[in-house]
Amino acid sequence: MARITLDHIRHAYGPNPKTDKDYALKEVDHEWTDGGAYALLGPSGCGKTTLLNIISGLLQPSHGRILFGGQDVTTLSTQARNIAQVFQFPVIYDTMTVYDNLAFPLRNRGVPEADVDRRVREILEMIDLSDWAKRKAQRLTADQKQKISLGRGLVRNDVNAILFDEPLTVIDPHMKWVLRSQLKRLHKQFGFTMVYVTHDQTEALTFAEKVVVMYEGEIVQIGTPAELFERPSHTFVGYFIGSPGMNVMPAEVAGSTVKIGSETINLGYAPKTNGAAKIELGIRPEFIRLGREGMPISISKVEDIGRQKIVRARFADQPIAIVLAEDVEIPTDARASFDLDAISIYAGSWRVGREG
Ligand code: ADP
Ligand code: MG
Repeated sequence: MARITLDHIRHAYGPNPKTDKDYALKEVDHEWTDGGAYALLGPSGCGKTTLLNIISGLLQPSHGRILFGGQDVTTLSTQARNIAQVFQFPVIYDTMTVYDNLAFPLRNRGVPEADVDRRVREILEMIDLSDWAKRKAQRLTADQKQKISLGRGLVRNDVNAILFDEPLTVIDPHMKWVLRSQLKRLHKQFGFTMVYVTHDQTEALTFAEKVVVMYEGEIVQIGTPAELFERPSHTFVGYFIGSPGMNVMPAEVAGSTVKIGSETINLGYAPKTNGAAKIELGIRPEFIRLGREGMPISISKVEDIGRQKIVRARFADQPIAIVLAEDVEIPTDARASFDLDAISIYAGSWRVGREG
């Protein structure tokens, strides 16, 4: 097991990168605590797989260093780094049996056959393929093959870290849930450092102690699910976490007041904005109330989603979403008020602080 340090990592796939746009990873400087369970969350193309491959050693970064427990491993192979990696699509030996596929990583390290057998049987049970042990892997379905891949990643319990790159994409929803809880259990039992890549916020939020959010080649926030929800540090995190995501509106700040179009809100504090007057105001749909008092809005649609309803409206010439409990009545000529404590202020997309 090891603490993993990413020291000023940058990566460009093409030759002669010039601007930030040429980099798939712009600047990643981060430490993964030994034994931590992290989800790496971000939209397609933001650099998750690139970062994972750099940690495992499949890819050499253009700049920067990787350290395991303080030791520089930047030039070491995946095998020398002692890392298990599970990819989005099955990586297995088609002509071997299911059993031998799982035994391979253990036999490869010279583990005694009795231990191999015990461990393989445990994993077979976990991935629900015990009955298929003697079959050739090529005879299995795509999701069974992916389970073998997952099993191969988990079969050794002496690795420094296990990296999962969206491993459950092709697995059906129920089995996904089962495997996810098994992963959590194994993590508790063996304490390996675990990085789990996903673009699915629900998966990330239910899975990890810490969620690392990536956007356009950068880590924009690391936090618990509650922190990401309550204090998004970048407008992207606001949009991406939550359903619907945070409302973000262009606004102007003057002292402790914020103007959005013709509406003025008194924050009660003057936010630090590094001198910028033009800012963005973020408010989650859950923290807007509708009543007879407040600022004018015009409701365009109410969507019933079971225990809640989503109100789509226009406020100060901006589209806005409001989430209400299903039993809340919407008054005619409803007006909106924002929960002042839940307002976030952003300058250049980054959260700015309060100042007395
Ligand atoms: P993610 O896993 O978050 O979807 P990737 O790490 O795969 O993102 O990709 C990050 C960026 O790097 C994307 O713009 C992608 O097009 C580019 N990219 C990924 N792999 C390669 C490659 N082998 N060659 C060139 N560009 C690549
Ligand atoms: Mg990817």
